[in-house]
Amino acid sequence: MSVEPSLDQIRTVADNVQVHKFGGSSLADAFCYRRVARIVTEYAGASDVVVVSAAGDTTNRILAIIKAQRESGDTADILLDQLERFQQGLITELLGTEFASPLLEQSTIDFQRFRDFVSGEEHIEHEAELLSYGELWSARLLAALLRKQGTKAEHIDARDFLKAEDAPEPIIQELESRHNLLNRVAPFPGTRFIVTGFIARGLQGESLTLGRNGSDYSATLVGSLLNSKQVTIWKDVAGVYSADPRKIERVVSLPTLDWSEAEELARLGSPVLHPRTFQPVDRDRMVISVRSSLKVENQQTRIGNFEHTEPKGKVFTSLSEVVLFKVELNDRELVKQLEALDLTPLVSWTEPEKHQQYLVFHQNHLNYISQWLERIKAGNAVTQIHGYSMVALVGNRIQETDQYNTFKLQLDDQQVRRFAVSEDGCSAVAILEQKLDNRLLNRLHSQLFNYRRSLGVLVIGRGNIGTAWLDLFRQQRDRINQVMDVRVIGIANSKKLWLDYSGVELNDWQAGFDRLSRPYVLTELLRELPNAPYDELVMIDLTDAKPVAQLYPSLFANGLHIISANKRAGSAEESLYREIRTIQHEYKREWLYNTTVGAGLPLNYAINDLRGSGDEIRSISGIFSGTMSWLFENFTDGVKFSDLVLEAKKRGYSEPDPREDLSCQDLVRKLLILAREIGLNLDWEDISVSSLVPESLRDISASEFLERAEELDEPMDHMLKEAAKEGNVPRLLASFSVSEEGRVSAKIGVEYIPAGDMLANLIPGENIFVIYTDWYSEMPLVISGPGAGKHVTAGGVQSDLNQLLAKLTVTG
Ligand code: ADP
Ligand code: ASP
Ligand code: MG
Repeated sequence: MSVEPSLDQIRTVADNVQVHKFGGSSLADAFCYRRVARIVTEYAGASDVVVVSAAGDTTNRILAIIKAQRESGDTADILLDQLERFQQGLITELLGTEFASPLLEQSTIDFQRFRDFVSGEEHIEHEAELLSYGELWSARLLAALLRKQGTKAEHIDARDFLKAEDAPEPIIQELESRHNLLNRVAPFPGTRFIVTGFIARGLQGESLTLGRNGSDYSATLVGSLLNSKQVTIWKDVAGVYSADPRKIERVVSLPTLDWSEAEELARLGSPVLHPRTFQPVDRDRMVISVRSSLKVENQQTRIGNFEHTEPKGKVFTSLSEVVLFKVELNDRELVKQLEALDLTPLVSWTEPEKHQQYLVFHQNHLNYISQWLERIKAGNAVTQIHGYSMVALVGNRIQETDQYNTFKLQLDDQQVRRFAVSEDGCSAVAILEQKLDNRLLNRLHSQLFNYRRSLGVLVIGRGNIGTAWLDLFRQQRDRINQVMDVRVIGIANSKKLWLDYSGVELNDWQAGFDRLSRPYVLTELLRELPNAPYDELVMIDLTDAKPVAQLYPSLFANGLHIISANKRAGSAEESLYREIRTIQHEYKREWLYNTTVGAGLPLNYAINDLRGSGDEIRSISGIFSGTMSWLFENFTDGVKFSDLVLEAKKRGYSEPDPREDLSCQDLVRKLLILAREIGLNLDWEDISVSSLVPESLRDISASEFLERAEELDEPMDHMLKEAAKEGNVPRLLASFSVSEEGRVSAKIGVEYIPAGDMLANLIPGENIFVIYTDWYSEMPLVISGPGAGKHVTAGGVQSDLNQLLAKLTVTG
């Protein structure tokens, strides 16, 4: 295969070939492999190089087999059978019978070797020889899967080109390795090469590994050997976060890290990047991206040279176990040996008065150091101390940040053995004489990062309420910004969008919108939004549009929170409503919709507070529609109902087609939202509704309806008279109640109520909610006030935003 590449071919490689790396978590099962294959064909170029780790936890499994083999018994065989089933299962599932057989044959040979090892038939000196199979299997399988899908691909065993001298951190033989790799790759443009990560060949021909999680390092090594400009490290996380998301809630992803920050994070043992990842990198040429193979559309972290990096704590990282070595400095020989130790500690310090030095190492290095100590026979002068942990905050010029002070302050209550700032000022590290738990980590993290996080706001719908809310927000911005950096990043109507990630100018935004808005498609915008450089995003839906409501699941899945004045989602048919709720919970997003019922009235607070305190809502009834309230409160003897309808339309109190109100559809929506809010399963067909629109006026155009509005009068007059006979007045009421047995009934329609009743004496337009609960059973809790109007509604939206901020900034 070895054809000497031409200079041109080598240049082409350097200019064009990018490297992609997929770790074990990206290759955990057949489904993941398919996803990776798709990324490799869609996101990688035709000649790109792909570095892979062992699938899932294969490396751990091989290590367990090696350990079990030493301990004898049949555990090793059992583990081996399981691993074989897993690996061969992947092959058959992905390749199907026709394509699987060559790989299965090879796999059987490989596993026979493991069996010989387990039975003692073959002595295998280097663990790495066995560990190498993990990555070899992945590379072989991914290349075969790509070929099956019609993509030109071949696998390469890194041991065929990557030469290194054995050491705890193997020393790469750069010239030879580069020559070998270019010879293999450069002559074959148009082929995607799948290279094993993690492994290399030693000078004696033995297999070597590059340390746990070493494939990140393999990727940048391959990148630098090929002189690539870009290495993409695909993980199960959407970039580097402010902390490990497996341990910490509400982590935020970081759009950028500069070299020194990323290197410090890796040095401190964060599993997200191998400690040596950055060693081979030409920092002026290369950019490294960390992004998610599970959700390619999500934000990514770019690591490179960035100007104006302000001092900022970016990542909080921890190690639950570190080992302290106490060294007696009187032993001069030992001190000399220590200086030559080819492993740098996480932290070290001297206590001169005691003539002692302390070195702290990652638990992973314990074996190597113990062996080294044995070799130099320094046992007596060195003491190993266990039971320590590490927490650290990484970020440029860390001492200049407020977070540094917070960090120090918060650690006051902990048992800090040592607090130090790294030499380059990129991290503050604390060694604690205690175990870590996630609560402590979460608390520290939220104290460090919740302070003024950022929220990007996208406003959809720029009508009356939109305009009123934007004005309100502009006035309140300074106050809000003390809590979080909140900026409106987009304003849209159904056709056009004005988007500016740095925040749109809100003074005279109408003019800005006219000048700078562009046609857009919401579904396409969604995919783009995760790139917005904000910790959190919220869409404020001020439309009345069903198509927008239908996108709520995607909005949540793309990481947005939602504030709605739009009733269409909360009152959607059960199936859509369930989907919205499911995805919302899955992605842990917030959804606030206070204004969908009773505009700005604090109905949601009352209900949630009662329920949260243990009360049960038994019924809610009342007048939920401002339009209906206005019509009925004004409807007295001698007044024509149709005149009121026309007047309401003229004043903008009703929908453009008043039948929307008169048919009670709007009320059904509100009732559904309320009932669902208190956890009832209710759908449209469960609500009995009597419409005020006579049959004859239903299927005609809006303009014809307005012309024939008088036809409403006869039945309405009849109603008024009927009610008056008993001293009553008609009112349009909505109600639902839950019986003792949990049965729900809900209805909307005209009822006759005593003329002196509270409900009969509202200010036209006023809403009233009469709430009976276990605690409010004799006398109801009543909430009333304006249930419509742009100012109160905008205020209600603002209240939702306030609540959202409170939720996003809670400390753990
Ligand atoms: P792979 O094997 O796919 O290369 P790993 O599972 O070794 O990836 O590393 C990714 C894991 O690192 C994430 O799933 C996450 O739990 C962990 N992690 C720790 N710290 C961070 C951080 N600051 N940002 C993102 N992920 C982190
Ligand atoms: N498979 C190796 C490990 O589990 C290397 C890697 O995943 O990067 O450590
Ligand atoms: Mg890994």
